[in-house]
Amino acid sequence: MKCPYCGKDNTRVIDSRPADDGDSIRRRRECDECHKRFTTYEKVETIPMIVIKKDNNRETYDRAKVEGGVFRACHKRPVSATQIEAMIDDVESSIFSKEEREISSRQIGEMVMEKLKDLDSVAYVRFASVYREFKDVNTFMDELKKMLK
Ligand SMILES: [Zn+2]
Repeated sequence: MKCPYCGKDNTRVIDSRPADDGDSIRRRRECDECHKRFTTYEKVETIPMIVIKKDNNRETYDRAKVEGGVFRACHKRPVSATQIEAMIDDVESSIFSKEEREISSRQIGEMVMEKLKDLDSVAYVRFASVYREFKDVNTFMDELKKMLK
């Protein structure tokens, strides 16, 4: 790290601590040449996940969108917000552990459905009907039957 005062890169860290925002590390450094001190902040680089939508357009992954869909599906169902948050956390950890930085909205939808199935069957069918865009009552009934087996 170059000294901002004299430009030499002979500096060392004399103190490190978490910054107030909790997401970065604040380092106090001292220059061995001019002995001036300065501060740097170190942050984890977050690489955004890109979601490929049905129309092939890309957008940045947005948890709020997934949450919105799940909350709507769970409306007036015995599923707590904590359960929903935990479920989405689960889905996110599988999404973000992937090597690729792109995922289709369909894949996300399938993952959510897989989890919803265990939480609440009505919420599952509601979510699935929106996500898979059931064209008619028959496809909807097929899905329902598959589920009830
Ligand atoms: Zn210096």
